Amino acid sequence: MLEIAFLGTSASAPSVRRGLPSTMVLYRDRRWLVDCGEGTQRQILRSGLGFKRLDTVLLTHGHLDHILGLGGLVSTFARWESIDRMAIYGGRSALDRVRDLMGVVLRGDEVAVTVEYIELQPGPLLRAGDLDVVAFPVKHRGSGNFGFLFHERSHRPFLVEQAEALGVPLGPERRQLVQGLPITLADGRIVQPDDVLGEATPGVKLVVLGDVARVDDLVGIVRNADALICESTYLWEDRAAAKQFGHLTARQAAELARDAGVGTLFLTHVSRRYAAHQIRHEAQAVFPRTILADDLEVWRIKRGAVERVRDVGAGEDG
Ligand SMILES: [Zn+2]
Ligand SMILES: [Zn+2]
Repeated sequence: MLEIAFLGTSASAPSVRRGLPSTMVLYRDRRWLVDCGEGTQRQILRSGLGFKRLDTVLLTHGHLDHILGLGGLVSTFARWESIDRMAIYGGRSALDRVRDLMGVVLRGDEVAVTVEYIELQPGPLLRAGDLDVVAFPVKHRGSGNFGFLFHERSHRPFLVEQAEALGVPLGPERRQLVQGLPITLADGRIVQPDDVLGEATPGVKLVVLGDVARVDDLVGIVRNADALICESTYLWEDRAAAKQFGHLTARQAAELARDAGVGTLFLTHVSRRYAAHQIRHEAQAVFPRTILADDLEVWRIKRGAVERVRDVGAGEDG
């Protein structure tokens, strides 16, 4: 099970209702920030999620609406928070720009935070427990644009009744079987993992896209995702502008969700040009299970289902 928190859902510039792009992905005790637009640290406070263990940022690309918040966030960490090391993953050009930004923010200061820059390559990026995080290239403007796949490994449940019937004791033997290793009982009998493990159940799959110019090359990686977070900067009537600036229309995002057999599509990177109902209407005509994300919504992503977790937004201001 994964959770996602939409911290900012606007495109290019903030609106009264929407902050600039940032999404927190939560898995057990791990958390990642995907992009960090201006104002993200205040959105984190308002969400009540806090800064704890928020030491890894994944950047989809280096446009200012996706990175400017890093300056403020790191500045705060350097002064007050208990985080003393931050890892920022991004394409080369994104990291160059963030380094320039940090040069201004941290200039000359003896700061208590170390920023580590890690250049993204397509492929496996991180592993956290049963969760694999994978980076993959996307087309937008310029080079070094990435999307991120969060994929939980499939899991075989431990069948307690079978284990007890076979006389498997409590303790390390059971752990060994779960890890796929046979054990030998005190009386010499051998128990194989298949004797006590049920059918494999697939893990949760989430795909987070930043700004994207085309979707035909993404169907494979997105296939059967339980949830897809995708930009929808334009409507179909403005598809010429979408093409010119390397963005998608709501309809194209919905077509990707439909063609890849996605569970739920969350639309984000919303332009002030349009009313919410226009975007929703265009996408849902193609893919009915579309949700237009709002700032500070938190959703739980399970296998085959999503649910709204809670309303956040009070934060410390009450
Ligand atoms: Zn953008
Ligand atoms: Zn962009």
